Amino acid sequence: VKFGDLIVVSNRLPMTITRKEDGNHEYKKSSGGLVTALTGMEGREFKWIGWTGMECEEKEERDKLRKELLEEHKCYPVFLKDDDADMYYNGFSNGVLWPLFHYLYEKNTTFNTEQWEAYKKVNQQFCDAIMEVYKDGDMIWVHDYHLMLLPQMLRKARPDAFISFFLHIPFPSSEIYRILPVREALLEGLLASNVVGFHTFDFARHFLSSITRSLGLDTTPRGCLHNGIFSHVHVFPIGINPSQFSSGFQTDACKSRYAYFKDKYKGKKLIVGVDRLDYTKGMELKLIAFEKFLATYPQYRNNVVLIQVGVPTRQDVVEYQSLISHVNEHVGRINSTYGTLDGFPIHYINKSVNFDDLCALYGMADALIVTSIRDGMNLVSSEFIVVQNERCLQENVSVEDGYISDKDSPSTPSNSRSNSGEASAQNFNVGKPPGVLILSEFAGAARSLGGSLIINPFNIIATAKSIFDALEMPPKERIARHRQNYDVVKTNTATKWGSDFMHEFEVACQYQADPA
Ligand code: UDP
Repeated sequence: VKFGDLIVVSNRLPMTITRKEDGNHEYKKSSGGLVTALTGMEGREFKWIGWTGMECEEKEERDKLRKELLEEHKCYPVFLKDDDADMYYNGFSNGVLWPLFHYLYEKNTTFNTEQWEAYKKVNQQFCDAIMEVYKDGDMIWVHDYHLMLLPQMLRKARPDAFISFFLHIPFPSSEIYRILPVREALLEGLLASNVVGFHTFDFARHFLSSITRSLGLDTTPRGCLHNGIFSHVHVFPIGINPSQFSSGFQTDACKSRYAYFKDKYKGKKLIVGVDRLDYTKGMELKLIAFEKFLATYPQYRNNVVLIQVGVPTRQDVVEYQSLISHVNEHVGRINSTYGTLDGFPIHYINKSVNFDDLCALYGMADALIVTSIRDGMNLVSSEFIVVQNERCLQENVSVEDGYISDKDSPSTPSNSRSNSGEASAQNFNVGKPPGVLILSEFAGAARSLGGSLIINPFNIIATAKSIFDALEMPPKERIARHRQNYDVVKTNTATKWGSDFMHEFEVACQYQADPA
């Protein structure tokens, strides 16, 4: 088979486009996981197709954007009317699919035909845009829940095309999936792909059983044959680009923020949380568990701070607005109950943070806590592990042998250091051992990061105990757990994810071209 170019399709282009007063446009590149994954596609030409994020009615402006995007950024735009975009994106994708796929079907009361029609229409507009640039042999890789009908539309337009799909969020149990009024249509949409990829084995299994239950088709653990196309179902856990975060922690800007935070929180244990303020992240459960921790372990009341970043997200969807006030309420109650004139136990911001601050916070943390009630993967966990590793290297804390390096105090035998990390730091003038990851069993990442303290965030008492255990954990165990996690994160990178997917995609395309 002779393969053409790769065409990557996602809801948004990997950049923010703004219209300037002089009629020109400004392009600001984003740096998500998908962007990183595709940097590993050396030797393969690719184009990125997606929505521009802004309405653009004039033909002249559209032509200009098309030209600039294609020539300067290897991108090709899909133009949507604001009303369609709202119903497809805020309405069907984020108001119906997102909650249902995260098991929150009681939030799924907004299904209406108008939004579904908009979803179909927009998927068709994506198909039309792709066909404007598609050439024989090109490989089309469609991303995520916004575009589940697209593979079938592409197949109809070009029966011989090479098409694949990756779902970045969980695929729910068939018992949940069957609630969706348009359950058959979405599965039919995906089954026109040569490859359908998921983050975990469970998501793939749920997809296959939904096919059997909703469409009555036979499946095998490897996939499903439908309308003459075999859809290969595979698991590809996504990762991060570790060097982005290890070098992020080494910059002068980050170092100076790290020094500042270190001074500011001197003598305190720090627990860090970084989440989009999404109801799937279990922020309320996290706060209630932290409150329980303060109530149960009074010895920690004045020397622990939870620094919680709640990144604003999807503020056009009603559920997200009420989440903001619920979280504010919990933070207010806990701070007023356990705060003193000297300080508060929770430092919460409903803002995003810049990259230097993010790396500095990851480096500061004695523990990072993730309490997602469902999460496709959770990359924050991996970012924390990489920054902790880098910090330990810089502070001469061995992360190799399960004990603290005695470079700074050669006369002290390492086996006498069985006390807590902070005490070690004070007594032996070496840095803190690596921080502990407290990770929800409902995040995809829990399947691979076995060195974490795995929690059920709905079990408040056990989560409070895990916070305590994390803070009390001796250096030796911290190092051993960190090593286990770091080995996974440094091996399963974003680049590896991208190249593993492309490898399977090529194999599947060869099978389509020559099934014998
Ligand atoms: N992040 C961000 N701005 C911030 C804080 C974090 O963009 O102020 C990033 C973070 O570094 C991570 C991503 O947001 O890469 C969140 O990814 P994750 O997989 O944890 O959850 P998602 O938001 O995709 O559900």
